Amino acid sequence: MQSILPLPTQSVKPGTSTGQQFWHSATTDRSEKIIDSFSPADGQLIARVYPSTRSDYDRVIETAQAAFQEWRLVPAPRRGEVVRQMGEQFRQYKRELGTLVSYEMGKSLQEGLGEVQEIIDICDFAVGLSRQLYGLAMHSERPAHRMMEQWHPLGLVGIISAFNFPVAVWSWNAMIAWVCGDVCIWKPSEKTPLTALACQQIITEVLRNNDVPEGVSCLITGGREAGEWLARDPRIALVSATGSTRMGKAVAEAVAGRLGRSLLELGGNNAIIVTEHADLDLAIPAIVFGAVGTAGQRCTTTRRLIVQDTVYDDVKKRLANAYAQVRIGSPLDESYHVGPLIDRQAVQGYQAAVQEIRSAGGRFVVEPGVLDGPGFESGCYVRPCIAEAENHWPVVQRETFAPILYLIRYTTLDEAIELQNGVPQGLSSAIFTLNLREAERFLSVVGSDCGIANVNIGTSGAEIGGAFGGEKETGGGRESGSDAWKAYMRRQTNTINYGTTLPLAQGITFEL
Ligand code: NAD
Repeated sequence: MQSILPLPTQSVKPGTSTGQQFWHSATTDRSEKIIDSFSPADGQLIARVYPSTRSDYDRVIETAQAAFQEWRLVPAPRRGEVVRQMGEQFRQYKRELGTLVSYEMGKSLQEGLGEVQEIIDICDFAVGLSRQLYGLAMHSERPAHRMMEQWHPLGLVGIISAFNFPVAVWSWNAMIAWVCGDVCIWKPSEKTPLTALACQQIITEVLRNNDVPEGVSCLITGGREAGEWLARDPRIALVSATGSTRMGKAVAEAVAGRLGRSLLELGGNNAIIVTEHADLDLAIPAIVFGAVGTAGQRCTTTRRLIVQDTVYDDVKKRLANAYAQVRIGSPLDESYHVGPLIDRQAVQGYQAAVQEIRSAGGRFVVEPGVLDGPGFESGCYVRPCIAEAENHWPVVQRETFAPILYLIRYTTLDEAIELQNGVPQGLSSAIFTLNLREAERFLSVVGSDCGIANVNIGTSGAEIGGAFGGEKETGGGRESGSDAWKAYMRRQTNTINYGTTLPLAQGITFEL
């Protein structure tokens, strides 16, 4: 593929984004651990990226610490102005970066562009937020006293991101953290290093033009080990980690061990309930998009479909018809709906799940399969499939990051809600119904136990304005909109005595 950004063609190593040393030729000591980035679209090697060494890491952290001393003093609206300019840069490079996301990660071009749009949207949100980092004022119980709380920057924020949203997740964290006065160290997925380097490159000019201190935006590359450095490092005030539940548990333990803060965005096992009162003309496209979009590699992908008895056969038939129209092929060709899985290891995970479904007695309504032949040389293209299954099967209980949809039958709404909640994860959920009682029950305290619960729209495709995240094994973190910014700041409660006496709280007297 032709270079679409002003990226260096030689191997690069990471660092801070404003300093001279951002791009260097690598030294030889790290060459045995080089990260090869292959496109799952065509199997081509598109970049070789040198991983950060521990000494690179320590240098980056020291630079970030120095930058924080300055950045925290910049007024928040002024920090917002820098983020506004970044949004403009991403507008300018939307097509190029979206194409690179699509090529390196394998999601459709539309979704690649959508991911960059999310960056632009969160920049806009963060600009407004930079003037709204509000604390509360409270009435003191003591005369001539005033109480208030204020929010201060937290410090260094480590961002560990997953391959499936290689750039948007970083921006949800970084843009908010920056207006809050923090500095960021990003450790992208080792499966998508090139898009991360491109993002750093895109914002470099803005950082330089605004004399932003070097170290406000840092990047380290590498796999699990580099993530562990961040998790264990007491210099990192907040570790925001997006990825599998397995990774989240390891990060949570390491960060808790030093009493640091973590924000975890982990796996989902999302369901849609289709009741007898559903408008199936709305439900069917939402289910198909939710289940096959990004080849089933979204944390919010629809994995389970819980359908009421009386409409079950109709839904099954309509879905089979819809799946027959799904076109699989190169993500860069806009005529296809579904691209490849990220790599061959993911294909093996899909095949293992298919085998497990068959062994458990599952029946495929739409057959699975791995595609080969012209256009599928990477070996990463699989058929989205649908299996009739039972909720308690181990394969249904876990998240297989592939386009496999489980069809489950129910009779009463309470039973459907129990099935929907009956998995370890708690990210996204939805109900399709035109019945007000059903919809409100689903959203009520006895309804969905997920962080996201929708009515008459599917499980995937969240907007940045809401707080994003989930419960149980999804990790409990919230990112992006609403008041998610509070995770990136420290709260301070202040009591000010402007009187001439010293009354104590709770009526306690203390006389000398
Ligand atoms: P992954 O867990 O394999 O890797 C994610 C990141 O964690 C990578 O950068 C990796 O290098 C790093 N890492 C791995 N082990 C680590 C450890 N022990 N300590 C520190 N860092 C470590 O996940 P993936 O395959 O890249 O992404 C898919 C997963 O991410 C799915 O489970 C998906 O549901 C989840 N995800 C969740 C959200 C959300 O917002 N809830 C969003 C996107 C993806």
